[in-house]
Amino acid sequence: MTKAISRSEPGAGHPFLTFLNTVADDGKTRQINSFQNATVLVRLLEEEGFAAPSEPITSTQMRNILILRETAYAAFSAIAAGRAPGREDALYLTETLKTVYQEAELNIGAEGLAVAPSPLGRVYEQLALSMDDLLRSDQFGRIRECRRCTHLFIDKGRGVGRRWCSMSRCGNRAKAESFRARQRHAA
Ligand SMILES: [Zn+2]
Repeated sequence: MTKAISRSEPGAGHPFLTFLNTVADDGKTRQINSFQNATVLVRLLEEEGFAAPSEPITSTQMRNILILRETAYAAFSAIAAGRAPGREDALYLTETLKTVYQEAELNIGAEGLAVAPSPLGRVYEQLALSMDDLLRSDQFGRIRECRRCTHLFIDKGRGVGRRWCSMSRCGNRAKAESFRARQRHAA
């Protein structure tokens, strides 16, 4: 899955993390969606390689999609900080995986197990299987959270590692803020 928009900044590193990052808040609140409505969310997910649903997303489906987003964020944020995810969150996510696997299409081929969502192609199922892919990825241990906002990303660097979701969104502003704080302190 390649991103339709090419940019110099590294991005989240996995489509499921891009989904978790669909909040626009500065700082550690998660109250503002980065999409205005379901149509915009579907378009955003299509750019990440998800298939558009055959029917428009209903309000109930949207509610479930957002529960998945916030529960997975809580669990992955804990993991990024080196903690175990909360029991309730882990339970919700494992139950989600079991349910989605029930309806998924499993295929054993030359390259091993291929898991695809049911032909109905609902967004929630696709997202849950994308989470499954991320959880099994050898990159999973490299998930980090932006120091300024709640966006998660896979840190592919070495050494001290990456601190910001992106320089333009958080890095530059955080640096300017700490520069101003040092100036105030010096004055
Ligand atoms: Zn950030």
